[in-house]
Amino acid sequence: MFKSIRWRIAASYSVLILTAMAGLSLFLSNVSRNTALEELRANLQVQARAVAENVLPVLQADGNGAELQAMAERWSQLLAARVTIIAPDGEVMAESEMAAEAMANHLRRPEIQQALVTGEGSITRFSESLGLEMVYAAQAVRADDELLGFVRVALPADIVQSRISDLQNTLLTAALLTTVFAVLLALVIAERTARPVRRLTAVAGRMAQGDLGARLFVTSRDEVGQLTKAFNNMGQQLREKVGNLAEERSRLATVLDLMADGVLITDRDGRVRLLNPAAAELLNSSEKEALGHSFAQVVRHHQLIEVWQRCQDTGEEQTETVEVGQRDLFVQIIVTPLRRTDPRSEGPPLPEGREGSLVILQNLTPLRRLQHVRRDFISNISHELRTPLASLKALVETLRDVALDDPPAAERFLDSAEREVDSLTQMVQELLELSRIESGKVPLRLAPVTVADVVLPAVERLQPQAERSNLSLTIELPDDLPPVLVDAGRVQQVVSNLVHNAIKFTTAGGAITVKARHDRDENAVVVTVRDTGVGIPEIDLSRIFERFYKADRARSGGGTGLGLAIARHQVEAHGGRIWVKSREGKGSAFSFSLPVAGPQVAGTIEVPDTSLP
Ligand code: ADP
Repeated sequence: MFKSIRWRIAASYSVLILTAMAGLSLFLSNVSRNTALEELRANLQVQARAVAENVLPVLQADGNGAELQAMAERWSQLLAARVTIIAPDGEVMAESEMAAEAMANHLRRPEIQQALVTGEGSITRFSESLGLEMVYAAQAVRADDELLGFVRVALPADIVQSRISDLQNTLLTAALLTTVFAVLLALVIAERTARPVRRLTAVAGRMAQGDLGARLFVTSRDEVGQLTKAFNNMGQQLREKVGNLAEERSRLATVLDLMADGVLITDRDGRVRLLNPAAAELLNSSEKEALGHSFAQVVRHHQLIEVWQRCQDTGEEQTETVEVGQRDLFVQIIVTPLRRTDPRSEGPPLPEGREGSLVILQNLTPLRRLQHVRRDFISNISHELRTPLASLKALVETLRDVALDDPPAAERFLDSAEREVDSLTQMVQELLELSRIESGKVPLRLAPVTVADVVLPAVERLQPQAERSNLSLTIELPDDLPPVLVDAGRVQQVVSNLVHNAIKFTTAGGAITVKARHDRDENAVVVTVRDTGVGIPEIDLSRIFERFYKADRARSGGGTGLGLAIARHQVEAHGGRIWVKSREGKGSAFSFSLPVAGPQVAGTIEVPDTSLP
């Protein structure tokens, strides 16, 4: 209870007031008692003087003891006080309260000593004969210069007590009332002082819990009022700062989330403190798995760990491109030491404050792939152009040198030259088409059509060619196929391409079938062109849809290697996918999916082709 400021103030006030009132009461009652005693002494002195006047003639006449005793008793009755008559040598001659003979010599009594010197003396002291505190007044009895004796009048000091007790009672009551009032006042003052402090404490508590909007009303202009004002200001500042921080944090989090580069931060102990989604993907990890674990545990790649460790050892930025073999990734890692900066200054980092490292991971794989594709493309196109150009040149030279004089031979050479030119033209046309599709400039004219609409025309066109090659070409379409939402012309081109390839790569007597099925999981129709041809070696399967890629150059002969690349782009532009299953020597099955037309779709929709290579 006394831990509270209210009780501490109230208790100190009360103790102070109680002590002051008790001291004051004691002092006043003492003063009044002393004053009363003084008064009593003065009265007794007057009375002693009067008795001395009376006793003088008796002492002058050498009056006997009985007469003096009678006088002492009579005066004692009159004055209601003790009266003693003492001889000049201190012998008690008469005494109103006791037997004079039994009393000791009184010469040494202080009041008698005073009277001996000055003629009168008074004192308040303890009476050994009565065992009480008494007030004494003594008067020397003199005739001319001769000392005849002393008269002493005495009263117990107690009697003043009754006179002053009223005053003391009044004083005590006043002191008690004042104390009670003062204690109540102290409680009120203490409560008023403690209340704002309690409110401040409550609001500070709420702020600590996160309620930064908590405020106090400023009710006074005193120190507490100023403190409240300062506190409110502090709350406001805190709210603004926390708000700014939260905003900055969320902005930073958004940037980190959207960043294509991986960002990872380790603390001074090498534990991962931050990992953005890009970094998680690159490292095949997740934020949950990584946070709090060591860099090595999260990264699990010795070269990346080495680069990071080098930065730890040297304190300098490290950059390196690393091939993460098992995942076919090329990653550029940049490790920068993080230093603690003085938050109040914008100045340079503090020298001692190594706080951890910032690791940036850039995925260079697409860039590398693009570089490879570009390099391959240039080398392929040069190669593809060089072969027909070289044969053209050879044909022209032979024609000029020998065949001009031999018209049938010249005719054959010219036919060959024409075929080469046709093949070059076809390649240039296909290249142009591929580039048009890839650039996305040709819009797709989507419309719901039946699968037969796209498969039949293409197959019918190639039927004579299949027959010439002695191949059976059949179509199997279930009746319940849903319509597809496609650009019919473009899909026909894909089917033509695949059937054309099947014819090219299947030896006489083989069979080619074109089938379609409804894939309900993908909500698509899958068209498959299957042949019993030469098949494709496994190592080529993954690259078969690249431009200029030919699995078997010897057999593909006049092919450009662009047909499947075009087919892939066409299918992907429709939101579908294309794939191949093949076994060398047994045959191949090329499939592609087409989106099913929803019931609401009717008419033609034109969409720009935005698919990229
Ligand atoms: P091309 O003009 O050479 O046919 P494509 O892009 O259409 O170009 O085909 C690329 C390569 O894929 C072909 O050279 C061939 O090696 C292989 N290929 C395509 N279709 C088949 C198939 N049905 N059977 C075996 N190999 C095929």
